[in-house]
Amino acid sequence: MINTTGPAPDRLADAWQRVRDTSPAGEADPLVLDCARRLAADPGGEQAHVWVAGLVAMSGHLAWRPGREAGHAALDALRAAVKELGGRPCPHDDHPYEAAMDALKDEVWRGDTGLLTGEPAAGDGDGDAGRVLCPGNVAGWARLAADVIAPFSVRRIPVGAPKHHRSRLSILSGIVNDYPYGDPGEDLIDEAAGLPARPTRGVLAGYLVTMNATCWYAASERITDRAVPDAMIKGIEAALPLLDDGPCAHAPGEHPSTDDPDYANRIGYLLRSPGGRAEIAEDYGWDEEDEEEHEDEPLDAWVCPAFLHDLAEETLTALA
Ligand SMILES: [Zn+2]
Ligand SMILES: [Zn+2]
Repeated sequence: MINTTGPAPDRLADAWQRVRDTSPAGEADPLVLDCARRLAADPGGEQAHVWVAGLVAMSGHLAWRPGREAGHAALDALRAAVKELGGRPCPHDDHPYEAAMDALKDEVWRGDTGLLTGEPAAGDGDGDAGRVLCPGNVAGWARLAADVIAPFSVRRIPVGAPKHHRSRLSILSGIVNDYPYGDPGEDLIDEAAGLPARPTRGVLAGYLVTMNATCWYAASERITDRAVPDAMIKGIEAALPLLDDGPCAHAPGEHPSTDDPDYANRIGYLLRSPGGRAEIAEDYGWDEEDEEEHEDEPLDAWVCPAFLHDLAEETLTALA
């Protein structure tokens, strides 16, 4: 059995690291459930950083197709840790997890959080054990993991999409505003081919919103090569079956409007990262200090499968 009072055995950390989006639920879920239960048992405790590190390491699996029980247990435990640890005062201006946000490629953290060793995550030169193991840093990682699993479910994530997303956004913004910088056909084909095989909810939603924002241009006389709309159609058709088939929980009128392609284009890339979603939440006037989920906020409608399904159908019609 695993020792619950001492540090996590290396064996356990190795097992967490091996869990991927491709892992069968039968293998990964027991590890998730064990880790989540330990965190939930003492979410503000001495060992909380160990279990948060475990759930971050397994977030690729958790953001794709975890078993229902494992997914819920992980999310509840992470949110409990945020609640316990997130409000404690500390002397730091920032924490090492913030430096890692820029490298959250496709939203899944494949590096070491530093939480197990007390060493800062790679890329953060001025980290020290005090900042790495600070409750503020542990809560920060817990927020990121929770928001990747369930977009818009936690508050107080620092604003800012990864640099790579900002640069894609600016290329596509040129196209949507009819002032392309480079070859718009090539850029749209690149974009259409860019969806990972097992995207997180945020990345999948962002992809479909971007396809919708750019489809007017691809369908216009500005693009004469049929390969461009065809690549977009192919990408959208591959994305549709990846949408969760859960029911829509929104009232009529709560699904967002995508009538303004410039706005939709911006949202399309901001949806793909915790820092980007924090920017959307800021636009919507979310209260920074409020940790509670607001049931009346329609923000999560941006990742609603029913909304995205309709949006994708509309995009396909425009491109046909
Ligand atoms: Zn701190
Ligand atoms: Zn909905």
